[in-house]
Amino acid sequence: MAVETVFSQIIRREAKADILFQDELVTAFRDIRPRAPVHILLVPNQLIPTVNDVEPQHEAALGRLFTVARKLAAEHGIADKGYRLIMNCNAHGGQEVYHIHLHLVGGRSLGPMLC
Ligand code: IMP
Repeated sequence: MAVETVFSQIIRREAKADILFQDELVTAFRDIRPRAPVHILLVPNQLIPTVNDVEPQHEAALGRLFTVARKLAAEHGIADKGYRLIMNCNAHGGQEVYHIHLHLVGGRSLGPMLC
């Protein structure tokens, strides 16, 4: 049984967040602890705890994360210089919030790895 996180509350607009995009499949909002000038989280509206829980029926929402990431990167002026998309999985992957999310990070040089 999946346990809701604050991200479900943000998606339902019950918790405060700086929401930049929302449609029927995904929501994007600013990370509360930004690690770069641009740090946005993109989440499926449906609760999927980790990448290990991804099923074929989630493909539309997960694909939408990338098209929205591309749009937001362009809107924030980081598309040409580049940015990083990260999705952490479980403890060794550094996942803190168990509602899968794509980090869109940019606005400075990130180097070869973000560990
Ligand atoms: P993870 O380590 O990949 O799970 O990343 C979780 C991210 O969620 C971290 O970068 C946190 O700063 C961010 N975060 C946690 N709670 C909130 C919140 O309430 N609003 C926005 N971002 C959050």
